[in-house]
Amino acid sequence: MGFSTDCIHAGNAPDPLTGAVSVPIYQTSTYVQEALGKHKGYEYARTQNPTRAALEENLAVLEGGTGARAFASGMAAITAVSTFVKAGEHVVCSNMTYGGTHRYYTKIQARYGVEFSFVDTSDADEVRRAFQPNTRLLHLETPTNPTMAICDIALLSKIAHEGGALVVVDNTFASPYLQKPLALGADLVVHSTTKFLNGHSDSVGGIAVAANPEHVEWLGFVQNGSGAILSPLDSWLVLRGIKTLAVRMERHEQNGREIARFLASHARVGKVYYPGLPDHPQHALAKEQMRGFGAMISFELGSYDAASRFLAAVRLCSLGESLGGVETLISHPATMTHASIPEADRNRLGVTAGLVRISVGIEDVADLIADLEQALDAI
Ligand SMILES: *Cc1c(COP(=O)(O)O)cnc(C)c1O
Repeated sequence: MGFSTDCIHAGNAPDPLTGAVSVPIYQTSTYVQEALGKHKGYEYARTQNPTRAALEENLAVLEGGTGARAFASGMAAITAVSTFVKAGEHVVCSNMTYGGTHRYYTKIQARYGVEFSFVDTSDADEVRRAFQPNTRLLHLETPTNPTMAICDIALLSKIAHEGGALVVVDNTFASPYLQKPLALGADLVVHSTTKFLNGHSDSVGGIAVAANPEHVEWLGFVQNGSGAILSPLDSWLVLRGIKTLAVRMERHEQNGREIARFLASHARVGKVYYPGLPDHPQHALAKEQMRGFGAMISFELGSYDAASRFLAAVRLCSLGESLGGVETLISHPATMTHASIPEADRNRLGVTAGLVRISVGIEDVADLIADLEQALDAI
């Protein structure tokens, strides 16, 4: 089936009891058993929930995996994937991951004897050099936040597999509409469903998808064993959100391209970070690896003062963390999402005091451009 069809139908079979086209929200903690050892396959709702299972089936299909497991947040999904690594083992990770991933790895998992190397994953040689005999996981994020660097999933998967490591791709920024990491050779995909998948800024959740059935089984064991499950209501919200993923992504993409062009041609704007622009260092790779360039754009306004005046002046675009919703969100990485990174490191990585990030929504693009224009004039 085509992607749009799968968004709507995968996992969304009509309810066998009533024919309801919308998967019911099974808001229950347990299930009555007919007799000792005799039940319908459902015992306790941490372990099994039909609404959650429908979402897991849907995302396994959309990402081209064997199975998926849904978690209480994107971080809980990343935590579950981190259990593939044990004490004494080593992880190579992109140096521009989501801040929460860096915090989890360095402040929590590192306490349990796991070693980390953070490298620029857009440079395959740097990744190759970081590999050690005990490297078990390569953690990639592409495009990265906030400078939208792209890494070569197919090439890096080959390098990782030669080194005996699994590859996980955080596909939150692209969504399976734009990018299919498992088809490119990755072993695992994680998402914060909070972002484009749910798409309506009204739920926090995560998903881990695997290609290998043994990996799916382990993720299910961890899901039940450590307990950070996605609730039935949140599972239903994400399932509903995904029904319009394809049409939302088409509009996100169209608006994203137009706004990137507008920003790139505006005299008040410095560098624009968007994989769809021909001067992006990995534009050719993005074109090959992705079906589009997405709706995440960062741009340089030159100083903290300029960024601050611009952000105070926007009216339609909302200042806030998060991304991927139908509404356009604007943020200031240096003081918001990347505040925990020391200033010198931030500047080296391009996360300057003048950098602004925009998650382009699906409003009328003329309205968005008018808002950005008046805010740029206000600087
Ligand atoms: C938001 C985000 C996460 C964390 O997800 P939560 O749902 O907030 O826990 C992980 N990775 C990326 C790329 C994100 O944008």
